Amino acid sequence: MPQYQVVKGARDIFPDEIVRWHYVEGVVHRLALLYGYSEIRTPVFEYTELFQRSIGATTDIVGKEMFSFLPDPQGRSITLRPEMTAGVMRAVLQKNLLSTAPVHKLFYLSELFRKERPQAGRQRQFSQFGAELLGVSSPAAVAEVITFMMQVFETLGIRGLKLRINTLGDSSDRARYREVLRDYLTPFYDRLDLASRERFEKNPLRILDSKNPDMQEIIAGAPRLHDSLSSEAVADFEKVRFYLDSRRIAYDIDYRLVRGLDYYCHTAFEVTSPELGAQDAIGGGGRYDGLAKELGSSGEVPASGFAAGMERVLITMEKQGLFAALSPPGPKVYVVAQQQGLLDHAMQVAYRLRSEGISTEVDLAGRSMKAQMRDANRMRACFALFIGEDEVVSGAYALKNLVTADQTSQSLDAVIELINQYSGKEPES
Ligand code: AMP
Repeated sequence: MPQYQVVKGARDIFPDEIVRWHYVEGVVHRLALLYGYSEIRTPVFEYTELFQRSIGATTDIVGKEMFSFLPDPQGRSITLRPEMTAGVMRAVLQKNLLSTAPVHKLFYLSELFRKERPQAGRQRQFSQFGAELLGVSSPAAVAEVITFMMQVFETLGIRGLKLRINTLGDSSDRARYREVLRDYLTPFYDRLDLASRERFEKNPLRILDSKNPDMQEIIAGAPRLHDSLSSEAVADFEKVRFYLDSRRIAYDIDYRLVRGLDYYCHTAFEVTSPELGAQDAIGGGGRYDGLAKELGSSGEVPASGFAAGMERVLITMEKQGLFAALSPPGPKVYVVAQQQGLLDHAMQVAYRLRSEGISTEVDLAGRSMKAQMRDANRMRACFALFIGEDEVVSGAYALKNLVTADQTSQSLDAVIELINQYSGKEPES
C-alpha cells in the first residue's frame, strides 16, 4: 500500500467519474439559467463567528463538526465552510448587493467540510449544489425554490424521491410552541439524553431533530407545532401547497420536520432518496427570513433556499443505472508516428489540428506503432492519422476512420475538412 492515503472522509474523483459530475453540473447550470439564477462563489473559509452566529452554537455542526483553525497566532479563528447559506448571505450583505436590485437569485456548486464520522453517503469533504433566493420571501418564492430543486432531480431522471414539507410558522408561533413543548417534555426530563437536556432551555425545538432512538418515543407523542400556528401562518402554508399541487409536485406533510434555528420560518422541506440507506437526505431547505438580522444587518433580507448533496445524487443515479450511456469523451484524432524520429512532425500536425478545434492525441513517449494504435483504440479515438516519411515529403497524410476502417490519403487541409464534416461541423472559411 502506498505510504500516503487520501484523508479519511475525503475522496479522489478520477476522470472516469468526473464525466458524471460534469453531467450533473451541466444540468444544474442549465436549469439555473432557465430559472434566472446566477452563480456565486465564496471562499472555502470564513471567520468562525459567522457560522456560530448563523448556524447556531447549540447545533451539532457548530458544536463538534467544524474544521476551525487559527491562521496565525494573533489571528481570528477561521473555519472551513460547513454549509453555504451563511457565506452567501455574508457576501451579499458585505457588498450591499440588495441596493442594486431588490431581489437576487444565486446558485452555487461548492465543497463543504464537516467533521462527521464518515460512512456511506457521509463524508468530511462533500459537495452541494444549491440556490438562495434573497430579497423576497413568500409562498411563491419558496415554491419556486422547491420546484427548481425538484426539476433538477427530475431532469436527471432520478426516481422514487420523497419530498416532505412542513411549516414552522413565524417567530411568535414558535415562541408559543416552545412553551407548549417544554410543558410536554417536563415530565420526561429525566429520560432526556444529555444533548436534549441542553436544548430543553435554549431551544427545545431542536429536541425534535434528535436521531437518538431512545428519544423517538418521547418525540412521537409531542404536540405538533402545527397546532400552535396563527391563521396567517396556516394560510401561508396552504398557498405553498397550492403552488406545489398546481405544478404536480408530490409531497407529504411531515409535522416533525423542523429546522431548530430561530431565523428559519414558515416552509421547511427535505427530500429523501430510496437508494441511500441511513443517510437518506438528498436535499433540503426552507425560508430563513431572520438570518440577515442575525448577522447584524439593519434591514431584513427575506430569503429562501435549498441545498442538495452532490455525492448522494451521484450514488442515487448510479444505483438507478442513469449513467450507463456516459463515458469520458475520447480524442477525435490520434496522430500515429510511424518511427520515433517523426515525433516532432507528429507534434506539429497535432498542434495544427488542435488549433482547428479538433481534439488530438499524440504519443509523447515515442512508443511503437502497435502501442500507439492500442492506445488510440483504448481512448476510443475516431481517427488515426499516420505520419510516415512519405507523408512528410508528399504532404499527403493517411487518415483511417477507426469506426468504419475506411482509409484515405489527403493533404492536411483536406483531412481537417473531412474530420470536421464527420463531426457535423462546418469547415471554417
Ligand atoms: P444540510 O445542509 O445538512 O441540510 O445538507 C444538505 C444536503 O447535503 C443533504 O441533504 C445531503 O444530501 C448533503 N450532505 C450533508 N452532509 C453531508 C455529508 N457529511 N456528506 C455528504 N453529503 C452531505
